[in-house]
Amino acid sequence: MRVQQEVRADGETLEVWIDQDLCTGDGICAQYAPEVFELDIDGLAYVKGSDDELLQDRGATTPVPLPLLNDVVDSAKECPGDCIHVRRVSDRVEIYGPDA
Ligand code: SF4
Repeated sequence: MRVQQEVRADGETLEVWIDQDLCTGDGICAQYAPEVFELDIDGLAYVKGSDDELLQDRGATTPVPLPLLNDVVDSAKECPGDCIHVRRVSDRVEIYGPDA
């Protein structure tokens, strides 16, 4: 069961999304944060929703649970495809990831 608490950085809720066009399918993110990321049968990584279901729309976003922030940030840093994006919900400014 996923923790529902969301991250607030400077009072802002954060969300994460993956650019599947650049995903190499190595699965590093799913190893670091399996509660947030998972590989689908197409071999690419997707984020999970609040009910632990895989969000199979490309570029779908999901809130970052506070206890998983470090794992999500590490995933973004280690992602070989540079395709994990963490951003503020309010203004969509990227906080961690290739566009930060
Ligand atoms: S770490 Fe990046 S490239 Fe690797 S599976 Fe996850 S999203 Fe795709």
